[in-house]
Amino acid sequence: MSNNEIPYKIYLEESEMPKAWYNVRADMKNKPAPLLNPGTLQPMTVEELSVVFCEELAKQELDNDTAFIDIPDEIKGFYKMYRPSPLVRAYCLEEKLGTPAHIYYKFEGNNTSGSHKLNSAIAQAYYAKKQGLKGVTTETGAGQWGTALSMACSYLGLDCKVFMVKCSYEQKPFRREVMRTYGASVTPSPSETTNVGRKLLAEHPGTTGSLGCAISEAVEVAVGTEGYRYVLGSVLNQVLLHQSVIGLETKAALDKYGVKADIIIGCAGGGSNLGGLIAPFMGEKLRGEADYRIIAVEPKSCPSFTRGTYAYDFCDTGMVCPLAKMYTLGSDFIPAPNHAGGLRYHGMSSTLSQLYADGYMEATSVEQTEVFKAAEYFARVEGILPAPESSHAIKVAIDEALKCKETGEAKNIVFGLTGTGYFDMYAYEAFNDGKMSDYIPTDEEIAKSLEKLPKV
Ligand SMILES: *Cc1c(COP(=O)(O)O)cnc(C)c1O
Repeated sequence: MSNNEIPYKIYLEESEMPKAWYNVRADMKNKPAPLLNPGTLQPMTVEELSVVFCEELAKQELDNDTAFIDIPDEIKGFYKMYRPSPLVRAYCLEEKLGTPAHIYYKFEGNNTSGSHKLNSAIAQAYYAKKQGLKGVTTETGAGQWGTALSMACSYLGLDCKVFMVKCSYEQKPFRREVMRTYGASVTPSPSETTNVGRKLLAEHPGTTGSLGCAISEAVEVAVGTEGYRYVLGSVLNQVLLHQSVIGLETKAALDKYGVKADIIIGCAGGGSNLGGLIAPFMGEKLRGEADYRIIAVEPKSCPSFTRGTYAYDFCDTGMVCPLAKMYTLGSDFIPAPNHAGGLRYHGMSSTLSQLYADGYMEATSVEQTEVFKAAEYFARVEGILPAPESSHAIKVAIDEALKCKETGEAKNIVFGLTGTGYFDMYAYEAFNDGKMSDYIPTDEEIAKSLEKLPKV
Protein backbone atom coordinates (compact mmCIF):
# COMPACT_ATOMS: atom_id res chain seq x y z
CA MET A 1 0.00 0.00 0.00
CA SER A 2 1.43 3.39 -0.86
CA ASN A 3 1.93 5.78 1.98
CA ASN A 4 -0.44 8.26 0.36
CA GLU A 5 -3.38 6.06 1.21
CA ILE A 6 -2.71 6.41 4.89
CA PRO A 7 -5.53 8.36 6.55
CA TYR A 8 -4.82 11.48 8.58
CA LYS A 9 -5.97 9.58 11.65
CA ILE A 10 -5.50 5.84 11.98
CA TYR A 11 -8.01 4.35 14.39
CA LEU A 12 -8.21 0.72 15.43
CA GLU A 13 -11.45 -1.23 15.55
CA GLU A 14 -12.48 -2.24 19.07
CA SER A 15 -11.63 -5.82 18.10
CA GLU A 16 -8.07 -4.75 17.25
CA MET A 17 -7.39 -3.17 20.64
CA PRO A 18 -4.77 -4.83 22.87
CA LYS A 19 -6.09 -7.63 25.08
CA ALA A 20 -2.95 -7.89 27.20
CA TRP A 21 -0.28 -5.48 28.37
CA TYR A 22 3.27 -6.26 27.25
CA ASN A 23 6.01 -6.49 29.87
CA VAL A 24 9.29 -5.58 28.15
CA ARG A 25 11.28 -6.87 31.15
CA ALA A 26 10.49 -10.42 29.99
CA ASP A 27 12.68 -9.87 26.93
CA MET A 28 15.54 -8.05 28.70
CA LYS A 29 18.69 -10.08 29.25
CA ASN A 30 19.88 -7.65 31.89
CA LYS A 31 16.83 -7.18 34.09
CA PRO A 32 16.25 -3.81 35.76
CA ALA A 33 17.94 -3.69 39.16
CA PRO A 34 15.56 -4.68 42.00
CA LEU A 35 14.02 -2.19 44.42
CA LEU A 36 15.87 -2.39 47.74
CA ASN A 37 14.56 -2.16 51.26
CA PRO A 38 16.19 1.05 52.58
CA GLY A 39 16.76 -0.58 55.98
CA THR A 40 18.24 -3.95 55.04
CA LEU A 41 19.42 -3.12 51.48
CA GLN A 42 17.90 -6.46 50.42
CA PRO A 43 15.57 -6.72 47.38
CA MET A 44 11.99 -5.88 48.30
CA THR A 45 9.64 -8.87 48.45
CA VAL A 46 5.97 -8.92 47.37
CA GLU A 47 5.02 -9.05 51.07
CA GLU A 48 7.06 -5.95 51.90
CA LEU A 49 5.77 -4.04 48.88
CA SER A 50 2.19 -5.05 49.70
CA VAL A 51 2.28 -2.84 52.79
CA VAL A 52 2.47 0.18 50.50
CA PHE A 53 0.96 -1.05 47.21
CA CYS A 54 -1.98 -3.29 46.33
CA GLU A 55 -0.90 -6.89 46.24
CA GLU A 56 -1.55 -7.48 42.53
CA LEU A 57 0.42 -4.34 41.68
CA ALA A 58 3.28 -5.43 43.95
CA LYS A 59 3.37 -8.68 41.96
CA GLN A 60 3.40 -6.83 38.65
CA GLU A 61 6.16 -4.60 39.99
CA LEU A 62 8.44 -7.57 40.62
CA ASP A 63 7.44 -9.72 37.62
CA ASN A 64 10.41 -9.76 35.25
CA ASP A 65 9.31 -12.87 33.36
CA THR A 66 5.69 -12.79 32.18
CA ALA A 67 5.66 -11.19 28.73
CA PHE A 68 1.89 -10.65 28.44
CA ILE A 69 -0.49 -9.87 31.28
CA ASP A 70 -4.21 -9.95 30.38
CA ILE A 71 -6.02 -6.64 30.70
CA PRO A 72 -9.06 -7.35 32.95
CA ASP A 73 -12.45 -6.89 31.22
CA GLU A 74 -13.44 -3.98 33.48
CA ILE A 75 -10.31 -2.07 32.49
CA LYS A 76 -10.83 -2.89 28.80
CA GLY A 77 -14.35 -1.50 29.22
CA PHE A 78 -13.06 1.74 30.74
CA TYR A 79 -10.39 2.03 28.02
CA LYS A 80 -13.17 1.92 25.43
CA MET A 81 -14.50 5.27 26.72
CA TYR A 82 -11.42 7.06 25.38
CA ARG A 83 -9.37 4.50 23.48
CA PRO A 84 -8.11 3.61 21.00
CA SER A 85 -6.33 6.93 20.83
CA PRO A 86 -5.64 8.10 17.29
CA LEU A 87 -2.31 7.66 15.57
CA VAL A 88 -2.11 10.79 13.47
CA ARG A 89 -0.14 11.10 10.26
CA ALA A 90 1.09 14.68 10.52
CA TYR A 91 0.57 15.56 6.87
CA CYS A 92 0.20 19.28 7.65
CA LEU A 93 3.40 19.38 9.68
CA GLU A 94 5.33 17.46 7.00
CA GLU A 95 4.15 19.89 4.34
CA LYS A 96 4.95 22.96 6.40
CA LEU A 97 8.45 21.63 7.16
CA GLY A 98 8.95 20.59 3.54
CA THR A 99 10.38 17.30 4.69
CA PRO A 100 10.32 13.98 2.87
CA ALA A 101 10.00 12.29 6.28
CA HIS A 102 6.69 10.77 7.28
CA ILE A 103 5.71 11.91 10.75
CA TYR A 104 3.22 10.11 13.00
CA TYR A 105 2.12 10.97 16.51
CA LYS A 106 0.12 9.00 19.03
CA PHE A 107 -2.24 11.44 20.72
CA GLU A 108 -3.09 10.64 24.35
CA GLY A 109 -4.77 13.95 25.21
CA ASN A 110 -8.35 13.00 24.23
CA ASN A 111 -9.70 12.45 27.73
CA THR A 112 -10.68 14.83 30.51
CA SER A 113 -7.45 14.32 32.43
CA GLY A 114 -5.71 15.44 29.25
CA SER A 115 -2.87 12.92 29.26
CA HIS A 116 -1.79 9.28 29.05
CA LYS A 117 -1.84 8.97 32.86
CA LEU A 118 -5.41 7.64 32.86
CA ASN A 119 -4.14 4.36 31.31
CA SER A 120 -2.39 3.41 34.54
CA ALA A 121 -4.73 5.25 36.93
CA ILE A 122 -7.66 3.00 36.00
CA ALA A 123 -5.52 -0.12 36.32
CA GLN A 124 -4.22 0.84 39.75
CA ALA A 125 -7.66 1.85 41.00
CA TYR A 126 -9.12 -1.40 39.67
CA TYR A 127 -6.67 -3.61 41.61
CA ALA A 128 -7.24 -1.55 44.77
CA LYS A 129 -10.99 -2.04 44.42
CA LYS A 130 -10.59 -5.75 43.72
CA GLN A 131 -8.56 -6.12 46.90
CA GLY A 132 -11.49 -4.60 48.81
CA LEU A 133 -9.67 -1.41 49.78
CA LYS A 134 -11.49 1.79 50.71
CA GLY A 135 -9.22 4.18 48.93
CA VAL A 136 -5.82 5.26 47.68
CA THR A 137 -3.42 8.12 48.32
CA THR A 138 -1.06 9.79 45.92
CA GLU A 139 0.91 12.93 45.16
CA THR A 140 0.56 15.20 42.18
CA GLY A 141 2.82 17.95 40.92
CA ALA A 142 1.31 19.76 37.98
CA GLY A 143 -1.91 17.83 38.54
CA GLN A 144 -2.26 15.48 35.57
CA TRP A 145 -1.77 12.35 37.61
CA GLY A 146 -4.08 13.47 40.41
CA THR A 147 -6.77 14.30 37.86
CA ALA A 148 -6.45 10.94 36.14
CA LEU A 149 -6.55 9.07 39.44
CA SER A 150 -9.57 10.98 40.72
CA MET A 151 -11.44 10.08 37.51
CA ALA A 152 -10.55 6.40 37.88
CA CYS A 153 -11.47 6.33 41.57
CA SER A 154 -14.84 8.00 41.09
CA TYR A 155 -15.64 5.50 38.33
CA LEU A 156 -14.95 2.61 40.70
CA GLY A 157 -16.30 4.21 43.89
CA LEU A 158 -12.96 4.47 45.70
CA ASP A 159 -11.85 7.30 47.97
CA CYS A 160 -8.92 9.30 46.60
CA LYS A 161 -6.61 11.48 48.72
CA VAL A 162 -4.26 13.66 46.72
CA PHE A 163 -1.27 15.58 48.10
CA MET A 164 -0.64 18.40 45.67
CA VAL A 165 2.66 20.29 45.69
CA LYS A 166 1.72 23.59 47.35
CA CYS A 167 2.88 25.93 44.60
CA SER A 168 0.80 24.01 42.04
CA TYR A 169 -2.16 23.91 44.43
CA GLU A 170 -2.07 27.69 44.49
CA GLN A 171 -1.11 28.28 40.85
CA LYS A 172 -3.31 25.63 39.25
CA PRO A 173 -6.73 26.05 40.89
CA PHE A 174 -8.48 24.64 37.83
CA ARG A 175 -6.75 21.28 38.03
CA ARG A 176 -7.52 21.20 41.74
CA GLU A 177 -11.20 21.81 41.03
CA VAL A 178 -11.34 19.08 38.36
CA MET A 179 -10.04 16.64 41.00
CA ARG A 180 -12.60 17.82 43.54
CA THR A 181 -15.35 17.54 40.96
CA TYR A 182 -14.43 13.86 40.66
CA GLY A 183 -14.68 13.55 44.44
CA ALA A 184 -11.01 13.55 45.45
CA SER A 185 -9.78 15.39 48.54
CA VAL A 186 -6.84 17.61 47.67
CA THR A 187 -4.34 18.70 50.35
CA PRO A 188 -1.54 21.17 49.66
CA SER A 189 1.85 19.64 50.48
CA PRO A 190 3.70 20.01 52.80
CA SER A 191 0.74 19.84 55.16
CA GLU A 192 0.11 19.69 58.91
CA THR A 193 -1.67 16.35 58.46
CA THR A 194 1.48 14.16 58.41
CA ASN A 195 4.69 13.79 60.42
CA VAL A 196 6.83 14.34 57.32
CA GLY A 197 4.85 17.47 56.44
CA ARG A 198 4.97 18.94 59.95
CA LYS A 199 8.71 18.28 60.18
CA LEU A 200 9.35 19.97 56.85
CA LEU A 201 7.17 22.96 57.71
CA ALA A 202 9.03 23.41 61.00
CA GLU A 203 12.41 23.26 59.26
CA HIS A 204 11.45 25.31 56.21
CA PRO A 205 8.54 27.62 57.05
CA GLY A 206 6.95 29.02 53.92
CA THR A 207 8.25 26.26 51.63
CA THR A 208 6.19 25.77 48.46
CA GLY A 209 6.76 22.03 48.47
CA SER A 210 8.22 19.44 46.12
CA LEU A 211 7.16 16.21 44.48
CA GLY A 212 9.49 14.22 46.72
CA CYS A 213 7.86 15.61 49.84
CA ALA A 214 4.31 15.05 48.56
CA ILE A 215 5.24 11.39 47.86
CA SER A 216 6.44 10.96 51.45
CA GLU A 217 3.21 12.42 52.83
CA ALA A 218 1.01 10.24 50.61
CA VAL A 219 2.94 7.10 51.59
CA GLU A 220 2.72 7.98 55.29
CA VAL A 221 -1.06 8.33 55.10
CA ALA A 222 -1.50 5.13 53.04
CA VAL A 223 0.58 3.04 55.43
CA GLY A 224 -1.09 4.57 58.50
CA THR A 225 -4.72 4.35 57.36
CA GLU A 226 -6.62 1.09 57.40
CA GLY A 227 -7.89 0.05 53.95
CA TYR A 228 -5.65 2.44 52.02
CA ARG A 229 -2.67 1.95 49.73
CA TYR A 230 -0.37 4.31 47.86
CA VAL A 231 -0.33 4.63 44.08
CA LEU A 232 2.23 6.36 41.84
CA GLY A 233 1.74 7.68 38.31
CA SER A 234 5.15 7.11 36.76
CA VAL A 235 8.64 5.62 37.26
CA LEU A 236 7.49 2.20 38.51
CA ASN A 237 7.64 -0.98 36.40
CA GLN A 238 3.89 -1.54 36.87
CA VAL A 239 3.14 1.88 35.38
CA LEU A 240 5.28 1.18 32.31
CA LEU A 241 3.44 -2.12 31.97
CA HIS A 242 0.01 -0.43 31.89
CA GLN A 243 1.28 2.26 29.52
CA SER A 244 2.34 -0.42 27.02
CA VAL A 245 -1.21 -0.05 25.69
CA ILE A 246 0.09 3.10 23.93
CA GLY A 247 2.85 1.25 22.10
CA LEU A 248 0.74 -1.82 21.32
CA GLU A 249 -1.94 0.34 19.69
CA THR A 250 0.70 2.34 17.82
CA LYS A 251 2.33 -0.80 16.47
CA ALA A 252 -1.02 -2.34 15.47
CA ALA A 253 -1.98 0.86 13.62
CA LEU A 254 1.35 1.04 11.76
CA ASP A 255 1.26 -2.67 10.94
CA LYS A 256 -2.21 -2.23 9.48
CA TYR A 257 -0.71 0.01 6.81
CA GLY A 258 2.59 -1.82 6.45
CA VAL A 259 4.58 1.07 7.91
CA LYS A 260 7.86 0.32 9.66
CA ALA A 261 8.95 3.01 12.11
CA ASP A 262 12.57 4.18 11.82
CA ILE A 263 12.77 6.60 14.74
CA ILE A 264 10.59 6.58 17.88
CA ILE A 265 10.68 9.64 20.13
CA GLY A 266 9.14 10.35 23.51
CA CYS A 267 9.51 12.84 26.34
CA ALA A 268 10.92 11.43 29.55
CA GLY A 269 9.93 12.56 33.04
CA GLY A 270 9.75 9.38 35.09
CA GLY A 271 9.68 7.38 31.87
CA SER A 272 6.15 5.96 31.78
CA ASN A 273 4.82 7.27 28.46
CA LEU A 274 8.13 6.63 26.73
CA GLY A 275 8.41 3.15 28.23
CA GLY A 276 4.85 2.41 27.14
CA LEU A 277 5.22 3.81 23.63
CA ILE A 278 8.42 1.94 22.86
CA ALA A 279 7.56 -1.34 24.63
CA PRO A 280 6.63 -3.59 21.67
CA PHE A 281 9.27 -2.01 19.43
CA MET A 282 11.92 -2.45 22.10
CA GLY A 283 10.75 -6.07 22.46
CA GLU A 284 11.51 -6.67 18.78
CA LYS A 285 14.84 -4.96 19.17
CA LEU A 286 15.76 -7.04 22.22
CA ARG A 287 14.76 -10.25 20.44
CA GLY A 288 16.82 -9.23 17.39
CA GLU A 289 13.77 -9.12 15.10
CA ALA A 290 13.95 -5.46 14.06
CA ASP A 291 15.91 -2.32 14.74
CA TYR A 292 14.67 1.12 15.69
CA ARG A 293 16.29 4.37 16.81
CA ILE A 294 14.66 5.22 20.11
CA ILE A 295 15.17 8.69 21.58
CA ALA A 296 14.27 9.92 25.08
CA VAL A 297 13.91 13.70 25.34
CA GLU A 298 14.35 15.48 28.66
CA PRO A 299 14.63 19.12 29.76
CA LYS A 300 18.11 20.63 30.05
CA SER A 301 16.99 21.88 33.48
CA CYS A 302 16.34 18.34 34.78
CA PRO A 303 18.66 16.08 32.77
CA SER A 304 18.63 12.71 34.57
CA PHE A 305 19.63 10.54 31.58
CA THR A 306 22.11 12.90 29.98
CA ARG A 307 23.88 14.26 33.08
CA GLY A 308 22.77 12.03 35.96
CA THR A 309 24.50 9.05 37.51
CA TYR A 310 23.32 5.43 37.26
CA ALA A 311 23.07 4.46 40.92
CA TYR A 312 20.74 3.48 43.74
CA ASP A 313 18.87 6.48 45.08
CA PHE A 314 15.93 7.51 47.20
CA CYS A 315 12.65 7.98 45.32
CA ASP A 316 11.35 10.63 47.74
CA THR A 317 12.68 13.33 50.08
CA GLY A 318 11.34 11.68 53.23
CA MET A 319 13.31 8.52 52.32
CA VAL A 320 10.37 6.27 53.15
CA CYS A 321 10.18 4.57 49.73
CA PRO A 322 12.34 1.67 48.53
CA LEU A 323 15.65 2.51 46.87
CA ALA A 324 15.69 2.30 43.08
CA LYS A 325 18.67 1.98 40.77
CA MET A 326 18.23 4.60 38.09
CA TYR A 327 19.77 7.53 36.30
CA THR A 328 19.39 10.20 38.94
CA LEU A 329 20.30 13.77 39.79
CA GLY A 330 19.96 13.06 43.53
CA SER A 331 16.72 13.03 45.53
CA ASP A 332 17.32 16.63 46.70
CA PHE A 333 17.51 17.93 43.16
CA ILE A 334 14.79 20.47 42.39
CA PRO A 335 14.75 22.15 38.99
CA ALA A 336 14.99 25.95 38.93
CA PRO A 337 11.70 27.73 39.71
CA ASN A 338 11.52 29.19 36.18
CA HIS A 339 11.31 25.67 34.76
CA ALA A 340 7.74 25.48 33.45
CA GLY A 341 7.82 22.49 31.17
CA GLY A 342 7.11 19.60 33.55
CA LEU A 343 9.31 16.47 33.57
CA ARG A 344 10.83 17.58 36.87
CA TYR A 345 11.41 14.26 38.64
CA HIS A 346 15.01 13.70 39.79
CA GLY A 347 15.17 10.05 38.70
CA MET A 348 14.09 7.77 35.87
CA SER A 349 12.34 4.41 35.46
CA SER A 350 14.75 1.61 36.35
CA THR A 351 13.64 -0.38 33.29
CA LEU A 352 14.50 2.47 30.93
CA SER A 353 17.68 3.17 32.89
CA GLN A 354 18.90 -0.38 32.28
CA LEU A 355 17.96 -0.24 28.57
CA TYR A 356 19.80 3.07 28.25
CA ALA A 357 22.86 1.74 30.10
CA ASP A 358 22.88 -1.23 27.71
CA GLY A 359 22.79 1.02 24.64
CA TYR A 360 19.28 0.14 23.40
CA MET A 361 18.16 3.76 23.39
CA GLU A 362 19.51 7.29 23.10
CA ALA A 363 18.75 10.38 25.15
CA THR A 364 18.95 14.06 24.42
CA SER A 365 18.04 17.22 26.32
CA VAL A 366 16.45 20.45 25.13
CA GLU A 367 16.04 24.00 26.48
CA GLN A 368 12.56 25.12 27.41
CA THR A 369 12.38 28.16 25.13
CA GLU A 370 13.14 25.83 22.19
CA VAL A 371 10.45 23.48 23.47
CA PHE A 372 7.84 26.24 23.57
CA LYS A 373 8.83 27.41 20.08
CA ALA A 374 8.17 23.88 18.86
CA ALA A 375 4.89 23.81 20.81
CA GLU A 376 3.72 27.04 19.20
CA TYR A 377 4.73 25.84 15.73
CA PHE A 378 2.91 22.55 16.24
CA ALA A 379 -0.23 24.21 17.64
CA ARG A 380 -0.45 26.48 14.61
CA VAL A 381 0.15 23.71 12.06
CA GLU A 382 -1.55 20.63 13.52
CA GLY A 383 -4.22 22.40 15.57
CA ILE A 384 -3.62 20.69 18.90
CA LEU A 385 -2.37 22.82 21.82
CA PRO A 386 0.29 20.48 23.23
CA ALA A 387 1.33 19.98 26.84
CA PRO A 388 4.80 21.43 27.54
CA GLU A 389 5.99 17.91 28.43
CA SER A 390 4.84 16.51 25.08
CA SER A 391 6.48 19.41 23.29
CA HIS A 392 9.92 18.07 24.20
CA ALA A 393 9.17 15.17 21.85
CA ILE A 394 7.73 17.52 19.21
CA LYS A 395 10.94 19.56 19.23
CA VAL A 396 13.14 16.54 18.55
CA ALA A 397 10.72 15.05 15.99
CA ILE A 398 10.88 18.34 14.06
CA ASP A 399 14.68 18.35 14.29
CA GLU A 400 14.85 14.81 12.93
CA ALA A 401 12.41 15.66 10.12
CA LEU A 402 14.59 18.63 9.16
CA LYS A 403 17.64 16.36 9.02
CA CYS A 404 15.69 14.19 6.56
CA LYS A 405 15.11 17.31 4.48
CA GLU A 406 18.88 17.74 4.15
CA THR A 407 19.56 14.11 3.31
CA GLY A 408 16.40 13.54 1.26
CA GLU A 409 15.51 10.44 3.28
CA ALA A 410 11.84 9.54 3.73
CA LYS A 411 12.17 8.17 7.25
CA ASN A 412 9.16 7.19 9.32
CA ILE A 413 9.26 9.21 12.53
CA VAL A 414 6.85 8.32 15.34
CA PHE A 415 6.48 10.39 18.48
CA GLY A 416 4.28 10.39 21.57
CA LEU A 417 1.99 13.40 21.98
CA THR A 418 1.20 12.71 25.62
CA GLY A 419 -1.31 15.44 26.34
CA THR A 420 -2.84 18.87 25.95
CA GLY A 421 -1.63 22.12 27.49
CA TYR A 422 -4.84 23.91 28.52
CA PHE A 423 -3.80 23.98 32.18
CA ASP A 424 -0.35 25.30 31.36
CA MET A 425 -1.36 28.73 30.16
CA TYR A 426 0.87 30.53 32.69
CA ALA A 427 3.82 28.86 31.02
CA TYR A 428 2.51 29.79 27.58
CA GLU A 429 1.92 33.32 28.87
CA ALA A 430 5.56 33.62 29.97
CA PHE A 431 6.62 32.39 26.54
CA ASN A 432 4.25 34.72 24.68
CA ASP A 433 5.46 37.68 26.77
CA GLY A 434 9.07 36.82 25.99
CA LYS A 435 9.70 36.28 29.70
CA MET A 436 10.66 32.65 29.53
CA SER A 437 14.28 31.85 30.30
CA ASP A 438 16.41 28.73 30.37
CA TYR A 439 18.23 27.59 33.43
CA ILE A 440 20.78 24.84 33.04
CA PRO A 441 22.20 23.48 36.30
CA THR A 442 25.97 23.68 36.69
CA ASP A 443 28.15 20.57 37.16
CA GLU A 444 28.75 21.73 40.74
CA GLU A 445 25.03 21.87 41.51
CA ILE A 446 24.46 18.36 40.19
CA ALA A 447 27.55 17.03 41.98
CA LYS A 448 26.33 18.59 45.21
CA SER A 449 22.94 16.91 45.12
CA LEU A 450 24.56 13.59 44.13
CA GLU A 451 26.67 13.71 47.30
CA LYS A 452 23.60 12.55 49.18
CA LEU A 453 23.21 9.30 47.27
CA PRO A 454 22.73 6.39 49.68
CA LYS A 455 25.81 4.20 50.13
CA VAL A 456 24.77 0.87 48.65
C1 LIG B 1 3.19 13.20 33.45
C2 LIG B 1 3.33 13.59 32.05
C3 LIG B 1 4.51 13.33 31.31
C4 LIG B 1 5.75 12.75 31.91
O1 LIG B 1 5.66 11.57 32.60
P1 LIG B 1 6.29 10.21 32.10
O2 LIG B 1 6.06 9.28 33.21
O3 LIG B 1 7.74 10.44 31.81
O4 LIG B 1 5.55 9.84 30.88
C5 LIG B 1 4.53 13.68 29.98
N1 LIG B 1 3.50 14.28 29.39
C6 LIG B 1 2.35 14.55 30.06
C7 LIG B 1 1.25 15.23 29.34
C8 LIG B 1 2.23 14.21 31.40
O5 LIG B 1 1.11 14.49 32.06
